[in-house]
Amino acid sequence: MSAIEHGKTIVKQLKDAGYEAFFVGGAVRDYVLGIVSDDVDITTSARPQTVEALFERTVLTGKAFGTVTVLHANHAFEVTTYRRETHYDNHRHPSYIAFADTVKEDVSRRDFTMNQLLMDENGDITDIYGGLKDIESGIIETIGNAHERFREDALRMLRALRFMAALDFTLSDEVEQAIKANHTTLKHISLERIQVELIKLFDAQYKPPALKAMRRTGLHKTLGLEQTVNHLANLTLPYTALDAFALAYGYGELVQSTFKLSNKFFKQIETIHAAHARVKHEGFTPKGVFDYGLKTMLHVNVLRQFEGHTSKKDTIERIHNTLKLRDKKALAINGKTIKAMSPAKKEHIALTLDTLIEQVLNGEVDNEPTALKASAQIILSKMKSE
Ligand code: ATP
Ligand code: MG
Repeated sequence: MSAIEHGKTIVKQLKDAGYEAFFVGGAVRDYVLGIVSDDVDITTSARPQTVEALFERTVLTGKAFGTVTVLHANHAFEVTTYRRETHYDNHRHPSYIAFADTVKEDVSRRDFTMNQLLMDENGDITDIYGGLKDIESGIIETIGNAHERFREDALRMLRALRFMAALDFTLSDEVEQAIKANHTTLKHISLERIQVELIKLFDAQYKPPALKAMRRTGLHKTLGLEQTVNHLANLTLPYTALDAFALAYGYGELVQSTFKLSNKFFKQIETIHAAHARVKHEGFTPKGVFDYGLKTMLHVNVLRQFEGHTSKKDTIERIHNTLKLRDKKALAINGKTIKAMSPAKKEHIALTLDTLIEQVLNGEVDNEPTALKASAQIILSKMKSE
């Protein structure tokens, strides 16, 4: 059973307690599109403390924003009290919110017509702003005047483009013009919020039309991703946000602080680049795949495809599957053995081990002590004579 099916119990329970409640947002849009969504939002006339009291397992995710997460049947449902938006400062989401009395008010603050559909526990849909016909024609349309809605909250412009990329929709003329006219106000939006939408955009399935629209409107310049977006706009090969950001890093359009990327994410980008430099010199080798691992090398492969090389995915996977060593500990001799053979410097021992690993991986030396010792002897004496 899907999350939305399970959520019906929650909607019903709120209604039985005398409140109004509906599914809303992306989950309803996706339901109409036949896409299974795990991220289910419920909007209700009940106040957060009521929601908290009604359900057994709740988490106060954003009490200030009127949101209580209800845990039910292994799913998390975001139950939010009807809200209206107060005034907007500096093209940003309001910093405080006010509760609203009617669902119509709640729906009017939402960004796009496709995102304002309401659905009840019987699957009946309420469509106040014509979202169904826009979904039918695959058009992204704001609720109300696009210029005004983007001036209120500039992030909506980037959201429009990420929905294009996720759903293969097009922008209405008004939305496109409004992005053209207002994209520089995206500078007022927090980098964290931009990061979330940008990662969703670059992880989505239908990127080329969205990136072309980004280019037409000039929003790529505001993001500081001009070269990256120009490069990717015509590419249909599959890639992820990590690959797109790695490309941006290569262009010098991205450092960790650009979108406040997590340490983990940024380290991956740096590692991919180090591996990429190595592959440039020596191609995909067993030692390269051993040192960097399959995942990193597959990302390097994508970067190479961005540069016009053909995919080496099969080769990389074959190299990985037939590696003669899986990790350093699998080598049949260790540093101690080498040290006992000859009083060498620490770096020399490390280098000798590394060379032995490469020789084993290349099938030049068998992974057994006698052969390895013989080879180590040669490597060490070479190093001494250097
Ligand atoms: P996804 O499937 O990616 O989660 P979503 O439409 O659910 O897409 P969310 O970011 O989860 O997107 O937001 C949930 C809902 O909240 C949206 O569908 C929309 O109704 C409303 N919303 C979110 N962000 C904004 C915004 N910046 N301005 C107005 N409404 C918004
Ligand atoms: Mg959502």
